[in-house]
Amino acid sequence: MENFLFVIGYMGTGLVIGAYAPQIWHLWTEQCSAGISERAYALWVVASALFLGHALIIGDAVFMITQLVNIGALVVILVLARRFRNQICAGHAHQLHVRK
Ligand SMILES: [Zn+2]
Repeated sequence: MENFLFVIGYMGTGLVIGAYAPQIWHLWTEQCSAGISERAYALWVVASALFLGHALIIGDAVFMITQLVNIGALVVILVLARRFRNQICAGHAHQLHVRK
């Protein structure tokens, strides 16, 4: 049962990585920060740090690793979004143009 709980926990961690990867890839390769709120990502870093504190106190390895992954991915996104602030790729520029 404990192994099963670890497996589903790490599957969740895998999904977290899978969700962040395309965002980081787009930021990095296209140097495009379209739709990224630096304030929201900064708040998520703080929230993840608090969750990490909670996970450390209750001694839960899955949540510790998940929050470390979260913090790492969020910080990478924040740094790239700041570096490429106000830069958008041709695809996003086209979408914005179409919506107007
Ligand atoms: Zn883009």
